Amino acid sequence: MTADERPNPEERPTLTQKERMKLQRVAMPEQDAAARAVNFGEVNLGLTEELAILEAERCLMCPKPYCIDGCPVRVNIPNFIKLLREGDIKGAAASLSDDNALPCVTGRVCPQESQCEKACLRAKTGQSVAIGYLERYVADWANRHADEIARSPAARTGKSVGIVGSGPAGLTAAGELAKKGHDVTIFEAFHAPGGVLIYGIPEFRLPKDIVKSEVDRLVDAGVKIEANAIIGKTYTLPELRDRFDAVFIAVGAGLPVFMNVPGENYKGVYSANEYLTRVNLMGAWLQDADTPVLHGQRVVVVGGGNVAMDAVRTARRLGAESATIVYRRSRDELPARAEEVHHAEGEGVIFEYLAAPTEVIGDEDRWVTGVRCIRMELGEPDDSGRRRPEPIEGSEFEIPCDMLVVAIGTRSNPLLTQTAPDLEVSKWGYIVTDDHGMTSMPGVFAGGDIVRGAATVILAMGDGKTAAASIDSYLNGVWPPVVEEPPAPAEHKARAKPAPAATVTART
Ligand SMILES: Cc1cc2nc3c(=O)[nH]c(=O)nc-3n(C[C@H](O)[C@H](O)[C@H](O)COP(=O)(O)OP(=O)(O)OC[C@H]3O[C@@H](n4cnc5c(N)ncnc54)[C@H](O)[C@@H]3O)c2cc1C
Repeated sequence: MTADERPNPEERPTLTQKERMKLQRVAMPEQDAAARAVNFGEVNLGLTEELAILEAERCLMCPKPYCIDGCPVRVNIPNFIKLLREGDIKGAAASLSDDNALPCVTGRVCPQESQCEKACLRAKTGQSVAIGYLERYVADWANRHADEIARSPAARTGKSVGIVGSGPAGLTAAGELAKKGHDVTIFEAFHAPGGVLIYGIPEFRLPKDIVKSEVDRLVDAGVKIEANAIIGKTYTLPELRDRFDAVFIAVGAGLPVFMNVPGENYKGVYSANEYLTRVNLMGAWLQDADTPVLHGQRVVVVGGGNVAMDAVRTARRLGAESATIVYRRSRDELPARAEEVHHAEGEGVIFEYLAAPTEVIGDEDRWVTGVRCIRMELGEPDDSGRRRPEPIEGSEFEIPCDMLVVAIGTRSNPLLTQTAPDLEVSKWGYIVTDDHGMTSMPGVFAGGDIVRGAATVILAMGDGKTAAASIDSYLNGVWPPVVEEPPAPAEHKARAKPAPAATVTART
């Protein structure tokens, strides 16, 4: 449906705030649990137009939109929702893409429940507005109607920027810098661009076509991508610095952390990154795959974050009869997105809470046959604010398995940093930057997980956006850059046409 074919908003009745408050949050249509546990199709199917308008009507258009403060890139949430319910989906799409370079991605993978939706006024009195669902709806519309959205090419500046890494930080920075007319080249170690979006997050959560179309748009805007280029091996950082007017490092933090327990090097033990990369990037489930992967029948995944959920749900889809999460805290402390946990439970994943591996058990050929664990109890809160798990003496038990995936975290890879002695890194190996994203090497900027440690897509994108603005300023000889303070919520004004009376297509 094009923007012009949408139902006329004037024909829909105006709602009072009281009526809006009575509207229940819509449910995301999704694939049936039994069916989806054996296919890689996307689990969430997206809102229909009717559901999207209905959900948009739930927004109270607060004079102080705290949801904006809850968003790390300060998307003007009330504005795009207002335009959506007025029937101006093109305007909604333009508003969203002004603030967020990858809305199709963030609408699917952001932990909204701990960001914008947590700050929504309606969360305090019941259920928040489903901001993530609406973001996805508008962004998917824009993706399908990309031809209708005019983009005028920027005047060329003659300045060049090299970007290392093509994850959300690198892609966002590339888009922003290309918009300003700079000549941008991305260097990516893998053969395909996208970072974690392409090699980590599985198809059933984030279809690869979406990431590819975002990358294609950048290429159409003139961004060059050199794949299979490892900075630190193929070229060094100082070489890149000589070649470009500025450099942005966005290499993520993809080096797996292991448990350091006996038997961890047995056959059949994977790091989650290796397991997911083989499946997502190398097509390892295909019979003639160059880089095959084990199809475990009894799979144990250690960890409780998004990575662990992705690995265990992938194992289920590759035929595991039993797929078990072993997590050392309780369900309340799981760091994964609430939706991923809910979906994993629906797909029959077993959760072994308050348990931690002490040893991997193997047979005489060193193939994994099980994992020995110990029961934990929660003590006082640790530095993360979560209660510290402590082992219960004498509570050991075993879980038989033929495949084990370790998903307990990642850290920085020293490949790039060790070839750049002038680059300051923290004691954990993360790159140190100033408030504008510049590193200790003048003209070299950094952002995303390689600066923050493993974080989120939206934070990496926020860093990419900030760094792009700083780089632009640096290239224009304005240093330090002039930073605009974000408006206080009370002063935040919707930027589009004045709001006509609110309207609705359906009520519950
Ligand atoms: C399996 C998984 C699931 C996740 N799920 C979520 C989620 O649901 N929601 C969420 O918000 N976050 C999630 N995250 C975290 C999120 O994906 C990251 O925080 C985010 O991708 C970081 O972005 P980045 O651009 O800094 O780095 P990355 O996405 O890691 O991209 C870095 C890129 O740099 C390349 N690179 C590395 N070294 C070099 C080098 N020396 N030379 C050239 N290129 C190099 C890498 O190959 C990679 O393509 C998940 C992470 C994983 C692993």
